[in-house]
Amino acid sequence: TKSTCIITGASSGLGLAAAKALAETGEWHVIMACRDFLKAERAARSVGIPKENYTVIHCDLASFDSVRAFVDNFKRTGRQLDVLVCNAAVYFPTDKEPKFSAEGFELSVATNHLGHFLLARLLLEDIEKAEDSLRRMIIVGSITGNSNTVAGNVPPKANLGDLRGLAGGLNGVNASSMIDGGDFDGAKAYKDSKVCNMLTMQEFHKRYHEKTGVTFASLYPGCIAETGLFRNHVQLFRTLFPPFQKYITKGYVSEEEAGKRLAQVVSDPKLGKSGVYWSWNKESNSFENELSEEASNPEKARRLWEISEKLCGFA
Ligand code: NDP
Repeated sequence: TKSTCIITGASSGLGLAAAKALAETGEWHVIMACRDFLKAERAARSVGIPKENYTVIHCDLASFDSVRAFVDNFKRTGRQLDVLVCNAAVYFPTDKEPKFSAEGFELSVATNHLGHFLLARLLLEDIEKAEDSLRRMIIVGSITGNSNTVAGNVPPKANLGDLRGLAGGLNGVNASSMIDGGDFDGAKAYKDSKVCNMLTMQEFHKRYHEKTGVTFASLYPGCIAETGLFRNHVQLFRTLFPPFQKYITKGYVSEEEAGKRLAQVVSDPKLGKSGVYWSWNKESNSFENELSEEASNPEKARRLWEISEKLCGFA
């Protein structure tokens, strides 16, 4: 029988490319967890994923109710979950004002971090039951976690501060809409959410790896300059960014290649180590990368976990 992998945001970009790469092996059934059912169906068909190798289940990460409904619907399929990939993300670099999720949290942190935190917490018990050699939980990180790159140091830099905005509810009313308590900055909110993603996987590793045997990892697949992530950016940026990445930073990677990299972290026995942040060198070989000081701060990871639990309604 095929192994089962859930990928959030598999309706475009990296998630779709990874779904295709996994489904093509014939060994995986991909559950596409997407907010737009029709778009996901069309996307799967347009890249030629065979019908028997995928299922679309609705999931809007910007609503806790929707995340919980997704988990119930997945459980009802009766499938054994082997791997969860937290991939979906939104990015609002030009917004002057914050937008908010169903529960009233700033939308990029709510979608990219809190929705995934809840999803991962709810599905861990399923992954625990999977076969030893398969079970993994993966989150797509970002270069903002790399202290050893130029791109990781472009302002506005990620900074969670003492997490006072998040602890206050991130609602822009009686608390800031930014994790560190500062003024809204859409580009920074995205980077902050990605640091949260990487901290979350480290905390999962610390709390659950020994106990459960599940592998927890994050990755930076390279700069995929043509995905929908940049759809909200100004046109000039969208025109110049791909060649800039191709010829200047040389961090550019095609959607197809990035999808293969993510699929490797899902299924390659060589990438089965837990607690790792994977990256790839110019020859496309994977290596264990180092995270920035903030993205590897154990005290922040613990605080973030505790606050996120509260906001998600645990405890
Ligand atoms: P895309 O915009 O192409 O894909 C993002 C996906 O997330 C889409 O499928 C989108 O759905 C989905 N999504 C957005 N909001 C929600 C929501 N509320 N609920 C469910 N799904 C949602 O971008 P990428 O493929 O580039 O991004 C994928 C991941 O890669 C992200 O985690 C991003 O941070 C990361 N990344 C990207 C890099 C790049 O250079 N592009 C570099 C490093 C990391 P819909 O189709 O409905 O909009």
